Amino acid sequence: QFERVGFIGLGNMGSRMADNLIKAGYNVVVHDVNHDVMKKFSEKGILTKKSPVEVAEASDAVITMLPSSSHVMDVYTGPKGMLNGGDLIRSRLFIDSSTIDPQTSRKLSVAVSNNNIKRGRGPVMLDAPVSGGVLSAEAGSLTFMVGGSEEAYRSAKPLFLSMGKNIIYCGGPGNGSTAKICNNLAMAVSMLGVSEAFALGQSLGITATTLTKIFNSSSARCWSSDTYNPVPGVMDGVPASRNYDGGFSTKLMAKDLNLAAASAKDVGARSPMTFLAEEIFTQLCNEDHGTKDFSCVFRHYFCGKDE
Ligand code: NAD
Repeated sequence: QFERVGFIGLGNMGSRMADNLIKAGYNVVVHDVNHDVMKKFSEKGILTKKSPVEVAEASDAVITMLPSSSHVMDVYTGPKGMLNGGDLIRSRLFIDSSTIDPQTSRKLSVAVSNNNIKRGRGPVMLDAPVSGGVLSAEAGSLTFMVGGSEEAYRSAKPLFLSMGKNIIYCGGPGNGSTAKICNNLAMAVSMLGVSEAFALGQSLGITATTLTKIFNSSSARCWSSDTYNPVPGVMDGVPASRNYDGGFSTKLMAKDLNLAAASAKDVGARSPMTFLAEEIFTQLCNEDHGTKDFSCVFRHYFCGKDE
């Protein structure tokens, strides 16, 4: 149904997602402000465009994968943004897979629909952020959380399936973004809970290996204890066992918690853990640990102890 697919934002995640669309046989058109990455795609024989609006003019559907809300707004509504293409816009579907706040996703969905009323041609918007990092993006095994009309979700499913494994419809506009920030909030808080308990256990004299055995056969078992353990030496193949390199960066976790905190304020939700988690991960970034995996928060409990 969508033969020509535009892709804007060819960074760590987007370049791999675009590669999987190409492998699946889609005729892909790309744009990024980074010329080096554009050159790489051009050398592979992929059509590149100088602006977002030109991508929307040349594609049946466009996917965006950008750092944050302001970049997304610029690509959609800025001077060379996709919604400024008037009658020349060919794209009928816009999918934003960036992690942004649900309020912006909803605003964009309205902007796309209003644009559509003017032109009477019916493009629609889906917010579809992803779970799974660079490795899942490369393997085509991402989870997509999709908000928007169910009909648009159904029409876009083949596109999602060429980049991901689990595609979950979450309801109306903004619900994909809501699902994403709530998932990462719960992940941050559970990582903090497990790290704090391990730190206390060690201070009281129990080894992390023993405590892990207890957790994993008891009620504290969770992803942070049995799959992504934050204590160095307890599990192989996790960031904690390689000096917290690789994985999901503290910087991105702080960004997602910032979105959760702003959303909580916006709707007046009582979210004390959100604000505390945001503060702790932001502090880690300020202390120069932003590029380390977010499970390095375990070390935070020992900072300054021996000074
Ligand atoms: P990234 O910084 O590696 O890539 C972003 C790309 O967007 C860059 O190539 C940049 O040049 C481009 N860009 C920025 N502004 C632009 C503009 N105005 N027009 C065109 N291109 C522009 O980021 P990433 O790690 O690929 O993450 C992308 C999104 O996915 C973020 O919202 C992030 O929170 C989310 N996410 C990332 C991960 C991860 O593990 N990296 C996991 C899940 C979700």
